Formats: sequence, structure tokens, C-alpha cells
Amino acid sequence: MKTTFDLSKEEMKAYGYKIIDILAEHFDTIESKKPVSSATRKEMDAVFLQEAPDTPMPADKVLDFVMENVIPFSNLTSHPKMFSFVPGPSNYISALADTLATGFNIFSGGWIVSPAAAELEIVTMNWLLKMFHFPVAKGGGIFTSGGSMANLTALVTARRIKCGDDFSKAVIYLSDQAHSSNIKAIRVLGFKKEQIRIIPTDLEFRISFNKLKNAIAKDRLEGNQPFCIIASAGTTNTGTVDPLDTIADICEKEDLWMHVDGAYGGAAILSEKGSRVLRGIERADSLTVDPHKWFFQPYEIGCLLVKDASWLSNTFSEKPEYLRDIEGNESEINFYDYGIQLTRRFRALKFYMSIKTFGLNAFKEAITYNIDLAEETEDMLRKSKNWEIVSPATLAVINFRYNPIGMDLTEKQLDSLNQQISAKVMDSKEALLVTTVLQNQVVLRMCLINPKTTFNDITETLQQCHEYATEILKSGI
Ligand SMILES: *Cc1c(COP(=O)(O)O)cnc(C)c1O
Repeated sequence: MKTTFDLSKEEMKAYGYKIIDILAEHFDTIESKKPVSSATRKEMDAVFLQEAPDTPMPADKVLDFVMENVIPFSNLTSHPKMFSFVPGPSNYISALADTLATGFNIFSGGWIVSPAAAELEIVTMNWLLKMFHFPVAKGGGIFTSGGSMANLTALVTARRIKCGDDFSKAVIYLSDQAHSSNIKAIRVLGFKKEQIRIIPTDLEFRISFNKLKNAIAKDRLEGNQPFCIIASAGTTNTGTVDPLDTIADICEKEDLWMHVDGAYGGAAILSEKGSRVLRGIERADSLTVDPHKWFFQPYEIGCLLVKDASWLSNTFSEKPEYLRDIEGNESEINFYDYGIQLTRRFRALKFYMSIKTFGLNAFKEAITYNIDLAEETEDMLRKSKNWEIVSPATLAVINFRYNPIGMDLTEKQLDSLNQQISAKVMDSKEALLVTTVLQNQVVLRMCLINPKTTFNDITETLQQCHEYATEILKSGI
């Protein structure tokens, strides 16, 4: 019987080819597009707000409507002039790998349902374990939807292994520059405010380990149970890496779980400079990396690595009777036993296919290029009398502000000036460049992890900023 959801083979092909044509065109011409797009809720409501339609509409018509009204109203996170947040450079092979995984609707939960999917997750996880110098035989990991879920999965595991069932006295430590997803995860876990220690950072945005040690000592004296430190390997704001070796020493001495959040910065391990900066990362108990950032994968794929795979299975295994037939034997991993999700999409496929297609060297070169590009940008800014570096190029992130020599602008004027520069750049839609706040200063921030971004893209944008600044200063701030 042909159900309502079936298309003829010819219809499926025509529809698919149309989408592939659109995607190929997009990947080929993205540089010529504008990265910024915006719309108000009111404008979007005017286009989309309607009751769920009871009657059908030709597939082509729906697709045309989407191409006209949906796709254009998203910022292009893969655009070479998308400098803000953490860009998502992505790649075509992985995008299509996702299409394959979705097309076949592959269930990536249990071994018996999809042995090859589980095997590819094991194999790619081994590649990652090796990359980060984690023990491959004993270690393990799991792909998640992103860094937030990887951090949550890590902290559930840390708490289970270190505290068991009673975590009433448990205390967790992280810096004021740690990513917000960690605090979210801690809240999801049900920790009270009194169980969280936010440790200040030093002038270079690294966790102050003197203050960290003081906090741990004080907690011990008060009868609390320190159990975990979250270190950042590439903070989102500045790319700063906490002193991982020192933190590892503290964790060893104090018997604490060391979680490293390398969601955006971890991938730098593939470059020589990055691996130097990340020294000590291999001593973590658990590590978050986010392939949909600097491993150039499309959303969503995050990853959690752990030193000992049994920590995950001891935390997440439940053995309900309705899954008994798909358990398989010990070496055949059921990834539903390693994390929160049962039904999981086949995320390993895109990671596998892109690395197999391009080779790891391509990733190494791209990441090295990004780090060098940020350093070149820093050099250029330092040579200009208009710009001031607020936080130097670190793992391809750089923070700076317009602060021309001799103008003697007040801090308040500088904040306003740089805020306005960003607003004007965004208004032009030519580049996506927003501000962040560092040590109470409004600064412009670039995260240069897109291998398509050229030095020329950067100088063009900075020239644009300079022209806006001149206008703003002329009309008075
Ligand atoms: C992006 C990021 C996260 C969150 O990851 P998502 O994939 O957005 O959920 C966590 N930590 C750091 C350091 C990040 O940069």
C-alpha cells in the first residue's frame, strides 16, 4: 500500500536533486553572501503564523516557500566573515553524511540494532582518545548533541564516581570564565548554590590557583567534600587555557575529579602550537570537545572522552527487560549505556566520513592556519595607532578595541565607541562582529576558526570598523 507519506521514486529523486543543487550552490558561493540576517518576532509571525494545515500542498511549493522565507533568515555561521561566538565552519561531506544517516534513519543506541554504527563510534572515539593522549584500551567516550550535553554527561559521571548517592556535602570548582553550560549542568544536577565555588581568574583570565587551593582547603576545614574541578581548555571569551598541569597536580593531591571543558579549544591539539598550550590535558579524568566547532562538523555533534570507559557504564547502565535482546556481549558497546539518550542519531558517521575523505592532515593544516591567522591579526593591530589589544591571540581568539593614541577617551567613551562600531558592522550585515566584556571593558572579539577566513576578510572588516569609528567620533560620543 502506498501510504500518505510515500513519494514515487521519480518524485523523491527530483526533490532530492533540487536540494542538493541548492546546497552545492550555497557551499560554492557562501563568500559572496552576507553573513548577518535579522528579523523581529513580529516580522516572522507575519510570514509564518498559521494553524497546522489539514490539507496537503505540493512538496515543491513548500520547499520554495522555505527557501524564500526560512533559510535566508539565519545568520551564516559558516561564513568567512562570521567572527563572533564560536563559528561553525562545517563541511560538505559531513553535511551529506548526516543526510545519509537520517535517510536510513539509523538508530545509534544498541550494538545489535546497528553494529556498524556502534563500531564507527568506537573507532572514531579511539582516534580522539589517541589525539588527546588518553588511554585507548581503557578509555572511552560518547558523541553527544554538543558541548553542553557533554559537560552535563561528564558531571553526572564525576558525581556518581566520586560521591555515589550522597552528594549533600559535595563541592565543585570552576573559574569565572568557565562556560555557562557548566553552571547549567550543575543546576540540572540539583546542586545548591552553596555547593558551587566560582574562582576568580587572574589578569590573563586563567583560574587563580592560589584562590582555588584556598577554597579547597577552607571547604575541607568546614567538613565539605570537594569532588570536582572544571578547567577550561580554551575559554569562549578569550581562548585562555587554565594551567592544566597545575590543576591536575591539585586534583591528584586532593583526590578530585578533573573535568576539562575543551569544547571549542580542544581541537587545537592537532596543531603544534595548540598541543603546547594544551599540555596537561591528557591528565584529565573527562574531557569535552565539540566537533561541531573546530573539527568543522555541522551541528549537532559534541563529544565526551573519559579515562576509564567503565565510569560511563557504571553511571548510565540500566537494564530494562525490553532491551535484553539487544544487549550483545561485553565488547559490543551499547552507547545507550554510556550516556543519557537511548535513541540517538548516528553522529559518528559524519566525523568518520570527513576524516576518511580529507585525512587528518587537512584538519591539522586548517587548525594551524587559524591559529597563525589570529596571531597575524594581533601583529597587525599592535602596529596600528588606532587599535589596542585587550587579550592577545590565543587558540584563534583575539579581543581588541578601538582606542586611538592621543585621543584620551574615557573608559565610558571607549565602551560606547566600541559598542557602536559593532552595531554599525552588524547593521551593514557585511560581517558578524559582536562585543564581549573583559575586565569591565567593552571589547570586540574575533574567533577565527574558519579556514575560509582570509587575512583580507579581516583587514576589510577592520577598515570598515575604522571608518565607522571616524564617523562616530566626528559626530561626538
Ligand atoms: C560552545 C561551548 C560550550 C557549549 O557547547 P554547545 O555545543 O554549544 O552545547 C561549552 N564550553 C565551551 C568552552 C564552549 O565554547
